[in-house]
Amino acid sequence: MTLYLKNTRYIDAETLKVSSTHIAVEEGARGGISLIDSIPAADARSEDDQVIDCKGRFVTRSFGCGHHHIYSALCRGMPAPPKIPTNFPEVLEYVWWRVDKRLDKDMIEASALAAGLQMARRGVTFCIDHHASPFAVEGSLETVAQAFERTGIGHLLCHESSNRDGDEIAEKSLAEHENYLASGRPGLVGMHASITVNDDLLERSVALARKFDTGVHIHVAEDVADEIHCEKTYGKRVAQRLQDFGALESPKTILGHCVHFTDEERRIVSRSPAWVVSNVESNQNNNVGLTGYDWVDNIMLGTDGMHNDMIRSAKAHHLVCTATEGIGYDEVYRRFRNVHKYLAQFDGVGDNENNLVVLDYDSPTEITDDNFLGHFIFGLESAHVNTVIAQGRVIMADRKSTLVDEEEVFTYAREQGVRLWKKLTEG
Ligand SMILES: [Zn+2]
Repeated sequence: MTLYLKNTRYIDAETLKVSSTHIAVEEGARGGISLIDSIPAADARSEDDQVIDCKGRFVTRSFGCGHHHIYSALCRGMPAPPKIPTNFPEVLEYVWWRVDKRLDKDMIEASALAAGLQMARRGVTFCIDHHASPFAVEGSLETVAQAFERTGIGHLLCHESSNRDGDEIAEKSLAEHENYLASGRPGLVGMHASITVNDDLLERSVALARKFDTGVHIHVAEDVADEIHCEKTYGKRVAQRLQDFGALESPKTILGHCVHFTDEERRIVSRSPAWVVSNVESNQNNNVGLTGYDWVDNIMLGTDGMHNDMIRSAKAHHLVCTATEGIGYDEVYRRFRNVHKYLAQFDGVGDNENNLVVLDYDSPTEITDDNFLGHFIFGLESAHVNTVIAQGRVIMADRKSTLVDEEEVFTYAREQGVRLWKKLTEG
């Protein structure tokens, strides 16, 4: 099957050059695109080829999220915690750990379907998720994977291993990674953060990642408490601890946040092939502090479960990092697009150039070959996403999913949300 996009103004995601062209989009996880002068006549096309007239709309590569927690999808409007948190460890204890302990398979499925649909609406076709469900570990990653696929979203998943709920659950989490990765699924080996991961779990997680030629995915120095705990318990900073266990050796490793690094930790990580993910809105929401990232090349952006909108993440990153490091528009965009560079390490994962958005972007000013970044920072919004193509397949057409019944997905999510909230109020 070839999908033809007729009459586009194509914005090349790398050069940012704009060209009036038609596009032939190849289907599949390894598919590409070609810019063509004319659409083949009907008798020269296959029966299952599809032509969409874009009527001069802008088309560009779709977006990817470098760090998400789709298990938070049912939390919007949930009951207040029993105690209002006054610091980040209390945010975890009274909010997120109370939620993730109560998740079951249906809630996980509903969360992934709802988040997948919301990502698709916003032109986000790939999600690197960090999943936590300590009392519903077994099979949870496959549940998330299948729900994402039903909504058309590509994925790189992991489970949040931790010693916070005891050794038995840590074992189950390791086993879940082993089973999921052994089944041939692409993924990472997830850990919560240094503060809840003991030496044994850290060592075995790194070994497991090595066994499957992948990386680890862990929160690092998100709050100062992670560093204080590490210095007190292990006599070293978090980046040093990770380096000592070999956790920074893989270019597939993802370190979330890295807010409270010393200069030495910045040196350790910037000299390693590991990737850093910035989530500035989450950092503000949790009041953990803010930082700049001008010390590291391998950096991408995420949402950290706050929402599903990567254009919003890029704009927030611009505002924060203008203050923290004087970032330029080009560097915001580079970090926004770096997720593709990271994902290119995973053959066949489904983040090729045949992932596209068609934008209803009607600007009061011209878009030229050298001013797209101004439009990206100040004009473009996810509300402009009209049609979304993932792995050469239309997954949203005119703002509606072509794959799932949206009302059905949200009805299911609301039902599961009510179940979750009831469990939360029952203690
Ligand atoms: Zn996170």
